[in-house]
Amino acid sequence: MTLARGFSESRIILLCALTFRCRVAILAKCKKCEVNTVSNLTDFEREKYRRQIMIPGFGEEAQEKLKASSAMVMRVGGLGGPIALWLAAAGVGRLVLAHAGKLTASNLNRQILMRGDSIGQPRAPQAAETIRRFNPDCDVVAIGDEPTPERVEEWVTQVDVVCLATPDFAERHWISDACVRLRKPMVFAGMDDMQAQLTTMVPGLTPCVRCLLPEVPEWWDPLGFPVLGAVPGSLGGLAATEAIKMLTGFGTPLLGKLLVYDCADMTFATFEISRDPNCPACAGVSA
Ligand SMILES: [Zn+2]
Repeated sequence: MTLARGFSESRIILLCALTFRCRVAILAKCKKCEVNTVSNLTDFEREKYRRQIMIPGFGEEAQEKLKASSAMVMRVGGLGGPIALWLAAAGVGRLVLAHAGKLTASNLNRQILMRGDSIGQPRAPQAAETIRRFNPDCDVVAIGDEPTPERVEEWVTQVDVVCLATPDFAERHWISDACVRLRKPMVFAGMDDMQAQLTTMVPGLTPCVRCLLPEVPEWWDPLGFPVLGAVPGSLGGLAATEAIKMLTGFGTPLLGKLLVYDCADMTFATFEISRDPNCPACAGVSA
């Protein structure tokens, strides 16, 4: 065992006995409480995230993983906005927020990262500014470019996990294809009216978006479906939870399962989903 800063093993155990857990940032592991004492968290971060660190099985180890991790949220509107906010609140170290276009009055029933006095202004910088004010320790990158297959691959390359919160089927396919090529995990969330769907995708292990949704429905209008803001709000919290689980290894993510719920009557159901062996994107891909 390697010790540093003059701490002996007995001294470490004594410190742990006094504080009920290892809190000293030294290059050693206390054999008594079996808590890894190597920590990159500051005292302020330990206090800020104390209520989630205390979750059994989460601990400082998961918190350190979040601090060292990065996530991309594809569109930060009614659904992606709460995803980004909860990821920042949890302590994800770096967020890449992609959302083209400018704020309109009809966005304001759900896009909680925006400001009511900024109609006509670009949305990505507003979302990033809200996140920075909420958690200044989070490194936020705002992307206001319109997505293309080439651009989304460049964005996906930069992060550890992707949260797909766009209602546009073409964008869903581009992001999913990039995740398959780059072997990145992705949380898929979608909603319409009072209904919502959620699953977590791992290339080579679970279905990709093209397995589930190979065709763009003719009836679908990505800019014209009904939304009550609290519905994507609830879904955003669940999607962020899935991303946190993928980044930390904590809990059991929705792999190969699709959660479907209807907020009109609060019915929830989970279905098994399978890969398409003829999928043009992920057939033949192994984990
Ligand atoms: Zn597929």
